[in-house]
Amino acid sequence: MADTLSYAQAMTYNRHIVLPQIDLSGQEALLNAQVLVIGMGGLGCPAAQLLCTSGVGKITLVDDDIVASSNLPRQWLYSHAQVGQYKVHAARDRLHALNPDCRISVISQRLNDEDLAALIQQHDMVLDCTDNPASRLQINAQCYQQQRVLVSAASIRFEGQLQVVDPRQQSPCYQCVSRLFSAQALSCNEAGIFAPVVSAIGTQQAHIALLMLMGIEVLPPGQLMTYDGLSLTWQSFSVPADPQCPVCQPQ
Ligand SMILES: [Zn+2]
Repeated sequence: MADTLSYAQAMTYNRHIVLPQIDLSGQEALLNAQVLVIGMGGLGCPAAQLLCTSGVGKITLVDDDIVASSNLPRQWLYSHAQVGQYKVHAARDRLHALNPDCRISVISQRLNDEDLAALIQQHDMVLDCTDNPASRLQINAQCYQQQRVLVSAASIRFEGQLQVVDPRQQSPCYQCVSRLFSAQALSCNEAGIFAPVVSAIGTQQAHIALLMLMGIEVLPPGQLMTYDGLSLTWQSFSVPADPQCPVCQPQ
């Protein structure tokens, strides 16, 4: 049976509940939602924090990385005192302090396909907050196979991108979009990243996820959104599915 909001929770989320698009039913949908956040860096920190403080009932965090001082400008869940700790452990402590009602599970290792598929199955939605194309392709393929909505994001330098992949609507997937990028994949270590840009993209990921969990679709599935942090502009691209895509096209 679905959980209902306590009186105290209804008071906490009052500013959401007065919005007619959300109402009590939307906030209770968040309370009963289970969201998987993979990657707890510059995208995962703002995304997980907003999911948690906005009232999502259960969040699982996956990351095998430890907190470094070079993370601190953008990864606000962590403090200097937590340098050297697993990110997922430091994040869990901070998120618990922000919202003790939110059940946080953590996994501090990289997952193979089989374990990732089993984990995805236990959740309603997946946020890909990882920092490399190989992980994004793996998560995309497993989400498609398990028929779970994926909110995929990436950010580097002053740029960011977002895509909602919805297998239930047979939308084009991340692999269809990734063929448009150059094969040379620099990391943020090599190319740099401007803290407000990655934070904005992670915030948008949570924004999209929260609305979708409440049944409000804000982005056409498969569409690619790109952000330019030097001109503060978004662009939107309808990317057709790759007819050869092994993930989203029937073989
Ligand atoms: Zn595809």
